Amino acid sequence: MSNAALEIPDSSDVIIVGGGIAGITAAWFLHKAGIQVTVCEKGTVAGEQSGRNWGWIRQQGRDQAELPIVMESLRLWQDIADELDEDIGFRREGSLYLCENEADMANHDRFMAFAPAYGLETRQLNRRQLEDLIPQCPERWQSALHTPDDGRAEPSLAVQAMARKLSQEGVEILENCAVEKILIHNGQVSGVRSEHGEIRSSTVLCAGGAWTTFLLKAAGIRLPQLTVKASVARTAPAPLLFNGNASGSKISFRRRLDGGYSVASSDYLEVFPSTAHLGFLPDFLPLIKTSWSKLRFRIPELTIDDDFTRQRMLDPIPSNKTVARIKAKLVDRVPAFAGVELAEAWSGMIDALPDVVPVLDQAAAVRGLWISTGFSGHGFGIGPGAGKLMAELIQGKPVTYNLDRFRLGRFSDGSKLVLGPAI
Ligand SMILES: Cc1cc2nc3c(=O)[nH]c(=O)nc-3n(C[C@H](O)[C@H](O)[C@H](O)COP(=O)(O)OP(=O)(O)OC[C@H]3O[C@@H](n4cnc5c(N)ncnc54)[C@H](O)[C@@H]3O)c2cc1C
Repeated sequence: MSNAALEIPDSSDVIIVGGGIAGITAAWFLHKAGIQVTVCEKGTVAGEQSGRNWGWIRQQGRDQAELPIVMESLRLWQDIADELDEDIGFRREGSLYLCENEADMANHDRFMAFAPAYGLETRQLNRRQLEDLIPQCPERWQSALHTPDDGRAEPSLAVQAMARKLSQEGVEILENCAVEKILIHNGQVSGVRSEHGEIRSSTVLCAGGAWTTFLLKAAGIRLPQLTVKASVARTAPAPLLFNGNASGSKISFRRRLDGGYSVASSDYLEVFPSTAHLGFLPDFLPLIKTSWSKLRFRIPELTIDDDFTRQRMLDPIPSNKTVARIKAKLVDRVPAFAGVELAEAWSGMIDALPDVVPVLDQAAAVRGLWISTGFSGHGFGIGPGAGKLMAELIQGKPVTYNLDRFRLGRFSDGSKLVLGPAI
């Protein structure tokens, strides 16, 4: 994976653009099927969202169409973790949505109306049951939604470990190798033009996270996408409160492998519509309307456009104010964390789509061009499930999921926009 004198192959059965969880897990399952794969990553593997997220692997609260895929994803996370030689922090310690009142709990009615039919063990806990789980649970939380077999893993370790394993097995994972253009000849993919030269292939999977919209634009495909900045902090090692993932209306926290917590505001996201994104704003009006209270519009601080080598890695800096907000809310909501220091803070740019569910599809107008993107803040958990699904679609295998919800064409064929659960 080193970039000293980068040699690139002349051709590959499949080329994957993007070394985040969407790209690396698709490579994982294609490689297992005996297919030659080359991953081109403009920076470093998991340098963007996949290495910066909260680390929740949750089935709880998912969109109905995503639920069967994420349930399979949990099983795949376990298989992958077992296969790796290093501990990526995968644990199934559950998720909790903490509720202050009946209205909070009612927010989860939509999910509870369909989740049990999928065999998911999700239940509503009353205050006493919540205390059994968190003996020091602050008084304000009176009940919770609980999915005991949800998981967590360390974003700073997981995807990199998968990529290392693939590299050891001979998969080409080319870092510092930006794809400048997807090459198309007579409506058929013929390869990519990377900064180091061309690679021929009749199949390309575009998994470029926040950059996907610009890669597709050059191929004549419109994908409405916005970038949303989300900030996270990690605490120093702290006493055990809950060993899984927990979220209230203001603060979310997740137990880490190092004995600390990854913490973030549940109600604070910053939107950066650069001039290149402005044309997409009308597509996002329904989402902006429903999420208005937690969105803050900002002047772009980073340029995301079709110059893929300008920024090898999107590394937005959390403002002091944002970090202070996380700290204040954490202590306000969970007094048990009062003496705990925030050891580090960082931000990531979420690639949001107008209905907050991804595109998992083949481009209708270009044969051989596949797209796995727009996970809208939920792609870490579903990553292996989506990766396996894309690998199967690329091989022409039948899949059992209904993928209608994830069509690329839904943004252009007059389909009614159906909003998924919030970012
Ligand atoms: C702060 C934060 C918290 C989150 N919390 C959670 C969570 O708890 N649980 C959860 O499930 N999800 C969470 N998410 C969302 C999750 O991290 C993402 O949905 C997921 O990582 C997306 O993976 P990806 O591979 O699609 O994109 P990315 O990880 O962004 O990877 C895309 C890659 O493509 C590369 N690339 C782009 N263009 C090119 C090009 N032209 N040539 C070569 N390479 C290119 C980029 O450099 C990048 O490395 C969170 C996200 C953030 C930012």
